[in-house]
Amino acid sequence: TWQSVPLAPPDSIFKLTAAYKSDTFPQKVNLGVGAYRDDSNKPWVLPVVKKATNILLNDPALDHEYLPITGLPEFNSAAAKLILGKDSVALREQRVASSQTISGTGANHLGALFLSRFYTFNGPKQIYLSNPTWANHHAIFKNVGIEPVDYAYFDPKTVGLDFDGFISALKSAPERSPFLLHACAHNPTGVDPTEEQWEKIADVFLQKKHFAFFDCAYQGFASGDLDRDAWAVRYFEGRNVPMLVCQSFAKNAGLYGERVGALHFIGVDKAATERIKSQVSVLQRSEISNPPSHGARIMALIMNDEALFEQWKEDIRTMAHRIIDMRKKLHHVLTQELHTPGNWDHILRQIGMFSFTGLNAAQSAAMVEKAHIYMTGNGRISMTGINSKNLHYVAESLDKAVKG
Ligand code: PMP
Repeated sequence: TWQSVPLAPPDSIFKLTAAYKSDTFPQKVNLGVGAYRDDSNKPWVLPVVKKATNILLNDPALDHEYLPITGLPEFNSAAAKLILGKDSVALREQRVASSQTISGTGANHLGALFLSRFYTFNGPKQIYLSNPTWANHHAIFKNVGIEPVDYAYFDPKTVGLDFDGFISALKSAPERSPFLLHACAHNPTGVDPTEEQWEKIADVFLQKKHFAFFDCAYQGFASGDLDRDAWAVRYFEGRNVPMLVCQSFAKNAGLYGERVGALHFIGVDKAATERIKSQVSVLQRSEISNPPSHGARIMALIMNDEALFEQWKEDIRTMAHRIIDMRKKLHHVLTQELHTPGNWDHILRQIGMFSFTGLNAAQSAAMVEKAHIYMTGNGRISMTGINSKNLHYVAESLDKAVKG
């Protein structure tokens, strides 16, 4: 039995982390990591999360019963309000079907599974994914029998958005095609459309009746402002683009391992939304029965209490502003001190945890092999791996890699 099971390659990010861990070079740096690190390169438990955890631990009524199939109701309602905004028309009209999920990955999976079962595809089961995208998107859709198709997104020449390519992909796709959109802080490029560009993108979605499959893994973490990072999602909802939103609390609450997330469908009316919710519930039941309670309870406390919510926003600003500060400093050292060849303004323009440096595969490999700075071969660096102690070393190594 199982003799014919082939060996799968290791996940490239986890492989990179293992190589970093076993490296004994004192100045080694991990720029592959997809999690926040503070200025001492340590994971950061948000003070508001500590506070909420203490409240939970001291609650004599706390038990470990199962949650409902679609999760903790007070978490779901607060999560929907967080992403769609308090003025959301869909929320007011009770047209949002929310379900708690196994973080953002689980939300993507459940959304993909639902599409595979219930979406009326115009031709073969396909979803359009930005080129490039979070690698797991490909696997998640393939797992449920939906074939990923690339749409133009990143322009290596400008290290920015290929807006014309994106628009023509939207126009040339068959009507009613699902397109996956990163709500903010595009992974892996850090390149987002501007508000004006989102407006034009929404125009084409409406013309072509496309479906927007929003993945929102970095709300607040990108700009430091929860509302600003939800702009595109709220704009699309306001224009009545057919859509769903996958939401993760891994990054913005530092709850990576607790697996806190949600999936929100916007329905056309209340009755249709109830039907969606009933089917999401059937799917969820067969997959996980019901989601885990601990992280959802923490987030429900934080989002439903005014003082805790304010403190969360402060903690989010701490994380986002450290990253933005590192972008400014890295840009300054490269351009003003080292006079590294090329234009580095994209480091400032890009948003969120990741930055596409523009380094090619050979230069990225040189960073790993010569400088012991661990990064992926596509030139992506995680800004959270940079801190005041290693900033100069990272900049000098980038400079050397570029000069060859
Ligand atoms: N979507 C994107 C674009 C991501 O970058 C991530 C995290 N790397 C996720 C979803 C899901 O992460 P999690 O399951 O930890 O919430």
